[in-house]
Amino acid sequence: MRLRRTRHVGWYEIMSQCPICGHKGWCGINEDQNIVHCMRVPSEKYKDTDIGRQYTHYLTDRVPREKIEIEVSNAVEKRPDYHLNRVYRALTKELTLSAKHADHLRSVRMMEENAIRLREYRTMPDRDRFKVAKGVIGRLSADNDLLGVPGFFVAEGRYGPYWTMAGDTGLMIPFRSIHNEIIGWQIRVDKPQLELSMQGAIKGEILEEMEPLENGLRRARCSLRVQDKILEVILTEKDKKVCHAKSGQFVFSVKLEQGTKYWWWSSGSKTNGASIGGPLPVHLALPHPCLPYWNVGEDPSGLIDCSEVWITEGGLKADLAADLMVKPFLAIPGTGAFRLALEPLKRLGCRHVVLAYDADAVTTPEVQRSLELCAEFFAKESDMALSLAMWDVSLGKGIDELLQANYVPQVSSLLS
Ligand SMILES: [Zn+2]
Repeated sequence: MRLRRTRHVGWYEIMSQCPICGHKGWCGINEDQNIVHCMRVPSEKYKDTDIGRQYTHYLTDRVPREKIEIEVSNAVEKRPDYHLNRVYRALTKELTLSAKHADHLRSVRMMEENAIRLREYRTMPDRDRFKVAKGVIGRLSADNDLLGVPGFFVAEGRYGPYWTMAGDTGLMIPFRSIHNEIIGWQIRVDKPQLELSMQGAIKGEILEEMEPLENGLRRARCSLRVQDKILEVILTEKDKKVCHAKSGQFVFSVKLEQGTKYWWWSSGSKTNGASIGGPLPVHLALPHPCLPYWNVGEDPSGLIDCSEVWITEGGLKADLAADLMVKPFLAIPGTGAFRLALEPLKRLGCRHVVLAYDADAVTTPEVQRSLELCAEFFAKESDMALSLAMWDVSLGKGIDELLQANYVPQVSSLLS
């Protein structure tokens, strides 16, 4: 098991597969390896933290102990917002937005040309990243300005160490503080990793990705283990295989699917890199016509009424929704991460918070519980009113899709 130290003594982040959910990263384990804080598989006991809800699972002796290997982290502490902004602004001058990504924003997201330009989306290139890093350094005062800036790290080359950039190729979405500082980026990756989603008596792994089908669906050669048999098969994305016994009883199912599409741009696992967390950024999205008048370091209350702020998940969604509603939107990293919103909202002078989470998520028990906790938290920590925006999922999953289809959400009070 590969582990990484966390800020809490005796606790580690699991960098190899979590014994509970099977995913890599984010889940935690204690030093004795008998308690897992899984972020994905619910249990009755849990704790809400800045990174989301941690579900406690006790490992029994049936789970064999694995040899531990603790990753030596050469990462450094993340720099303050004003410094990140300086570097990331320089980065916006060294990167461009690819025609493919501009077209996605225009034709799929229905974004206006002006909005695309003013919001400063960029493309993470697939090659020559060291040239971009060099260009950024050229715009700053010193080499070590990139130290502690998530996304950048030092690689070892044939002629010595050099600065370059981490992350998968994709569309880069800037996260802005309430003072218009760019303090982080999310990447919508072009090619998310393929994963196997399995249920029941089956184990398996992806051996290699194959040429996609003509319709674009991705394929992979996989090794599956059912009972004691190991078979090699080619699975196609979205094609779920389900196996039932003769009695009709469910035995297993397996499906090839694309993993997470949105990633933080971070370099916490690399030499001289930095992690985006501690705390994760939140993003204030204003309607795009405000942007040319919003100076760095300034509070936006002179440009737009911030007495009501809407909250959603995801930067791009917040940008789109802010334009369509003509209201300020705050993007948080997950429905459980509402605590991160409190300080920015207070500073904006917000009196009324409207939560606009995805329609398919709002009805799940986890999000229901997180709404209760959010109401308790705001009641205790603030005098802001809290409402929930809801709509039928058939009209659109996210608030951006709902508004684009010319519907408005129903807003009901959670706390007044
Ligand atoms: Zn887990």
